[in-house]
Amino acid sequence: MIVIMNPKCKDESIKEVKDYVEALGLKTHLSQGETFCIVGLIGDTSKIDEDKMIAIGEVDKVLKVGEPYKKANRLVKPENSIIDVLGNKIGGKNLAIMAGPCSVESEEQIVEIAKKVKESGANFLRGGAFKPRTSPYSFQGLEKEGLRLLEVAKKETGLPIVTEIMATEDLNDFVDRVDVIQVGARNMQNFHLLKELGKTKTPILLKRGLSSTIEEWIMSAEYIMAGGNENVILCERGIRTFETYTRNTLDLSAIPVVKRLTHLPVIVDPSHATGKNWLVEPLAKSAVIAGADGLMIEVHNNPAKALCDGAQSIKPEEFSKIMDKIKVLAQVEGRDIEGI
Ligand code: PEP
Ligand code: MN
Repeated sequence: MIVIMNPKCKDESIKEVKDYVEALGLKTHLSQGETFCIVGLIGDTSKIDEDKMIAIGEVDKVLKVGEPYKKANRLVKPENSIIDVLGNKIGGKNLAIMAGPCSVESEEQIVEIAKKVKESGANFLRGGAFKPRTSPYSFQGLEKEGLRLLEVAKKETGLPIVTEIMATEDLNDFVDRVDVIQVGARNMQNFHLLKELGKTKTPILLKRGLSSTIEEWIMSAEYIMAGGNENVILCERGIRTFETYTRNTLDLSAIPVVKRLTHLPVIVDPSHATGKNWLVEPLAKSAVIAGADGLMIEVHNNPAKALCDGAQSIKPEEFSKIMDKIKVLAQVEGRDIEGI
């Protein structure tokens, strides 16, 4: 349930609404902007007397929220959330570009790629240190050493780090050293991990689960937000369908859908969505046109020798060419790429 108040209402009226609701054992969530003032009610709303609420004054409307997600719901916060990561904004008019290898492999590799993607216009460095691999015999990532190497690359380039967490035992390390914590597709419904991430303030990039519906995906964001961390960025990375030609099927429609249902930024990962390097460009461009708030692209200096996901990785030169086209598209669409 949400209480839509007069945007210019007095603080006392908001307090009166909150006092009434909280006395009934519910929690409230205030969302206020220039043109709106909304009090979201969280808990059992069956005890609420809508007429009583209207009688408080300065309450324009009381609406039932049908969706099970409250904090992520656009009804509760009509304006787009903008998440600031070391001065790089994600959401709103901004187009965030996250690029880097699937896995951090060595200092030379990560620093070289970081410098090159930055030169082409990326404003975040991605790179896996803890890798969720299907086979236990595959390269599992450099783990803590990988985090250290990401920090070296950040020092060299200033690019904020985006990297995946797999277990809560690494949480303290991630909170201290990582700028955006990625939750991979395989952990999207690891509710214990989501709850722990909800206790932090670090921005969380939440990838869509392999076979998750849009509502399940948003509910996972809600887990993080319910804990108090509202800095959530969604990432569409393709879902499983009957089609096997591509690694996954990129659900482009999820972008406008998620943006209609929630106020959260949504970025697109065309690399994992397709599994093929030559499909990265057309789908990256399509994602921008469909309204994505950013892109996550796998870039490797030597894809043929990559320890993970070489087939979908593009070379820095190819990334640079794609970025030239993305910059033109961004201009046409009235979007900003921070730092360009
Ligand atoms: C990744 O980004 O490296 C990754 C493993 O992605 P996903 O969780 O989308 O498969
Ligand atoms: Mn990968």
